[in-house]
Amino acid sequence: MRAEIISVGTEIIMGSTLNTNVQYITRRLSEIGIDVLFHTSVTDDPRLLKQVINIGLGRVDLIIFTGGLGPTQDDMTKEIVSETLGLKLMLDSSAEAKIREYFRKTNRTMTPNNIKQARIPEGSRILANRVGTAPGIYIEKDDQIIVLLPGPPREMRPMFDEQVVPLVQQDITIKTRTINTIGIGESALEAELEDIIDCEKEFIIATYVQEGGVDIRIIARQNSTQSVDDRLNEIIARIRQRISKYIYSYDDEAIEEVVYRKLLEQNKKIAFCESCTGGLISSMFTRIPGASEVFERGIVSYSNNSKVEELNIDEEIISQHGAVSEVVALQMAENLLDKTGVDIALSTTGIAGPSGGTIKKPVGLVYIGIATRDNSHATKFIFSGERSSIQTRAALMAFNELRNIL
Ligand code: ATP
Ligand code: MG
Repeated sequence: MRAEIISVGTEIIMGSTLNTNVQYITRRLSEIGIDVLFHTSVTDDPRLLKQVINIGLGRVDLIIFTGGLGPTQDDMTKEIVSETLGLKLMLDSSAEAKIREYFRKTNRTMTPNNIKQARIPEGSRILANRVGTAPGIYIEKDDQIIVLLPGPPREMRPMFDEQVVPLVQQDITIKTRTINTIGIGESALEAELEDIIDCEKEFIIATYVQEGGVDIRIIARQNSTQSVDDRLNEIIARIRQRISKYIYSYDDEAIEEVVYRKLLEQNKKIAFCESCTGGLISSMFTRIPGASEVFERGIVSYSNNSKVEELNIDEEIISQHGAVSEVVALQMAENLLDKTGVDIALSTTGIAGPSGGTIKKPVGLVYIGIATRDNSHATKFIFSGERSSIQTRAALMAFNELRNIL
């Protein structure tokens, strides 16, 4: 089924309201196998509205309108749609009763124009509005479906999910799986998987760049549900064989959660000392409910002085190698391990920019140190981007390093 979404409202055209409805509806429709081919936005102008309706009727099977269902003069979607389709508006007594009831319950006075909302095109179906007053409308005419939804997202969303989806849903199964990777660029990843992407014609395999990593999304679309899961698993297994070392999770499990899960399984405790990431790693980690089971402490050790005081770093080493160096990263992690008695200690030290870089130590240079009872090492990374992006990438990479040793 081919669909078009028509957003009605001058405020959208003027740019004062962000059109979130169109994104929401498009996502949901594609999940249930309906192809959205067009997004149209139009001002509250009857002539233009009529024009776009006619264009839509000429090119798709399903048109979804949002906006302009309210009681005021500029709300005219229902009137113009009915007129264009040649349908009369009839007063629906149960809709009228519901609107009266809504005003009674919310203790507000009803004005005559509210009754306008109880008039619906002949032969159409009412979509109840449990959040506001304007009901939605579902019209089937000559093999085409026209749906009118209110503009406010908090009214539109539940109405769409609960009432429109069941009516337009296709007998098609769409399944999406995601493989989350880190440490490999998008083009390198695509090159690795080129033949798989090319030969799996009935599946869409695409890569999406995220901050710090690249996701591979596999979309299966079939009439029978049965084989889809098996085939998806098969493809995932093939991809895993190629690039397993870059895969940190499936279906968007966050990398810090993967680390948390492994620590919990192995009954290990962790501590962080962060310089350039300024507490971001601890913050991300403590967002996980139950972090206290495995997280001992996080120290933000920003100045050279605090590195000396809190972590016993040799002043001489700092002056000799600089605070952003492999030895300092290593000492930070090792000393934190000794100080806290945890099983794993992780450190970061780097130059997040925008200033402070040199030719030898450019902005984006980050050392990540990891110390455990039997081993310690520090790894050098160079991240690109702005300050906050360098910090985020460093934090994600720190979790990836932990994932690898766990
Ligand atoms: P109301 O009964 O509130 O007037 P309505 O169906 O007539 O609802 P509009 O008057 O077009 O809808 O829009 C009401 C409000 O809903 C807008 O001011 C805006 O905040 C929000 N809105 C409308 N359309 C969209 C959209 N496409 N995306 C996000 N928000 C929207
Ligand atoms: Mg309105």
